[in-house]
Amino acid sequence: MTITAVSPATNKPIKTFKEMSKKECLAAVGKADDAYQQWRATSYDQRKQVILAFAKELRNRTDELARLITLDMGKRISESRREIEYCAEIAEFYANGAEEFLADQPMDRVPENAYLHYEPLGVLLGVMPWNFPFYQVVRFATPNLMAGNTVLVKHASNVPQCAQAIESLFAECGLPDGAYANLFVPTDYVEDIIADHRVQGVSLTGSEKAGAAVAELAGKHLKRSVLELGGNDPFIVLEDADIAQAAELAVQGRMVNAGQSCVASKRFIVVKSVADEFLERFKEALGELEPGDPLNEDTTLAPLSTEDAAQQLHDQVQSAIDAGATVLLGGDRPDRDGAYFNPTILTGVTPDSPTFDQELFGPVATVYVVKDEDEAVELANRSSYGLGGSVYTQDKDRGQRVAERVETGMMFLNQPTKSQAELPFGGIKNSGYGRELSHLGILEFVNKKLVHLG
Ligand code: NDP
Repeated sequence: MTITAVSPATNKPIKTFKEMSKKECLAAVGKADDAYQQWRATSYDQRKQVILAFAKELRNRTDELARLITLDMGKRISESRREIEYCAEIAEFYANGAEEFLADQPMDRVPENAYLHYEPLGVLLGVMPWNFPFYQVVRFATPNLMAGNTVLVKHASNVPQCAQAIESLFAECGLPDGAYANLFVPTDYVEDIIADHRVQGVSLTGSEKAGAAVAELAGKHLKRSVLELGGNDPFIVLEDADIAQAAELAVQGRMVNAGQSCVASKRFIVVKSVADEFLERFKEALGELEPGDPLNEDTTLAPLSTEDAAQQLHDQVQSAIDAGATVLLGGDRPDRDGAYFNPTILTGVTPDSPTFDQELFGPVATVYVVKDEDEAVELANRSSYGLGGSVYTQDKDRGQRVAERVETGMMFLNQPTKSQAELPFGGIKNSGYGRELSHLGILEFVNKKLVHLG
């Protein structure tokens, strides 16, 4: 069997890779375990040199690596470059911070001499998505390598060029052989990997369906897991917001990665007195985006990741329309080759519409007009997701109050949800569990061992 990179800008195949056999896959698990015995014995300083070398290579080869992202999954080239730079920042953050984050913690509440001592667990599996094909892997791999674990990655099947490039980068930076391995395997090998006694945990970023399947396997085999799943982030505009600025940020928040981000702003909840002005500005700015080749610096609208993704989004929009939604902008696909979808605004999506509680993974905004702050919060919380969200008001205290009432893992004032190495990232409800990034991210897969010296 093979895995093929297909350009979403043209829907034409680019390159084919051979899948591993089950035997080759389990041999990689064995190598990762051998590498673990060696890697766990290294000092933080030795690990730091390797991860800093990795960050340096990312920076040196930004253009070349960014191009692979754009070819594999269609992101605009400037966004691909930013992704690579951000990966270098994350790698540096953990290279420089790990020793401090994992320093022994005294247990101050007992008179005895007792402390928490952090130790690596062993081989970990990452099941990773295509939307940020470098970032998702780097935010999982670099903290865990710094902690002394070793890492296997089953990447999404539509980003094989990126998957291979990440493995080569780690190999060139001085990691022991096998300490980071890319597994070109079908999803039905995942159970064998999780079940293997040498594998201690699994982290998945992706859909709820994939998350539930992997969590079930982790439960069955008693392995630790972290899940970062979908989101339906509310973007709450109160009547005292700077509406021009909110509309500009709404475009940024919705259109990041052509709308294919778990923390993209997706549900725009606007207080009635400012709704007309907000909608007019939002519609005008979204309507200016033009589809084009994502490798071209001037392109403002990239394709979606695959033809299937564009078709699926089309079906979701159509079912919202069938259930009574109004199309204020777009609603269809442009007449050109590639997995494109026009920027779209829907209003009148009611709770009984099938799309109300679905994640729209593309350039489609749903706008809800509400009476006041209370109704905005109530609507924001009427979601099975709970990842991020943002609130727009010129009154900081009010913004803080609303932020604390919304049921998500992350809330931002006057800016859409963002990811930053120093800040924890993760959700509640069907958006998953566990945290990535920040000092919390490195604590997910370590043994928090109590040492009691009496
Ligand atoms: P998936 O969740 O299917 O893919 C993510 C990863 O999980 C891929 O590596 C995939 O492998 C793997 N996978 C899928 N099913 C299983 C399984 N049963 N067991 C083990 N691994 C599995 O994402 P899709 O590409 O299908 O996207 C669908 C939707 O998911 C999007 O529209 C969006 O709503 C959400 N999504 C959210 C992301 C986020 O950042 N939170 C990222 C990507 C998607 P393979 O590619 O081989 O199928």
